[in-house]
Amino acid sequence: MYFTEEEHNAFPVERSLMVDSQIAARGVRDERVLSVMRNTPRHLFLPRVQWLEAYKDCALPIACGQTISQPYMVAAMTEMLRIAPGAKILEIGTGSGYQAAVLAQLAGTVVTVERHPALAREARALLESLGCANVRVIADDGSSGFPEEAPYDGILVTAGAPAVPPALPGQLAEGGRLVVPVGNEKIQDIVTVVRQGDLYEQERGMACRFVPLIGKQGWREGHLFVR
Ligand code: SAM
Repeated sequence: MYFTEEEHNAFPVERSLMVDSQIAARGVRDERVLSVMRNTPRHLFLPRVQWLEAYKDCALPIACGQTISQPYMVAAMTEMLRIAPGAKILEIGTGSGYQAAVLAQLAGTVVTVERHPALAREARALLESLGCANVRVIADDGSSGFPEEAPYDGILVTAGAPAVPPALPGQLAEGGRLVVPVGNEKIQDIVTVVRQGDLYEQERGMACRFVPLIGKQGWREGHLFVR
């Protein structure tokens, strides 16, 4: 995968407008998050025919019937993680790799898990070509997390789960934060779980709509509403 410098730096006005009118205007305040959103070439995570749509205020289709999340949702969920420099983050649902690229610029290490091997392969190659050397892409069911590299300072699930996957809170480090959309097929709420010693504080936040988390601790494939 190779992009010219011109392609890499394309759409600066659209990107800046996206941050001002879709993200900052809706209340995302973290300057580090806003700066990364301003500098990450979202169009490169989409096929060329979709480049003109890349900075629109919506999720967009990618391969395997999946989506690249709405820019505002990427920024808001990233802010909710409160990533400190050097932090270790687990993302579940690599998709295009865009969210992982955002996380990689704020954290020390990112592990990202994708159940579709073709998406994982594509995202790995793209992230490598963009120089995101601190991201490890795993092709697997991530609904039970990735205990091999736990504990994590933050866990971000970018697919909708029927409930907080029980394996995830235990993979948080002390003070770590889990951000996960929980609800039914049509609508979910963003749930945040914060680990304080043996206590896990849970808070329900804004409504959202994600593709389903399919796997052992998510929905059963082909049988949404059946766990
Ligand atoms: N973060 C992505 C991005 O920036 O493009 C958007 C992710 S898309 C909304 C959700 C992704 O979660 C899909 O690619 C889907 O295949 C993946 N997914 C669903 N269930 C999963 C599971 N159990 N383990 C890993 N990935 C899963």
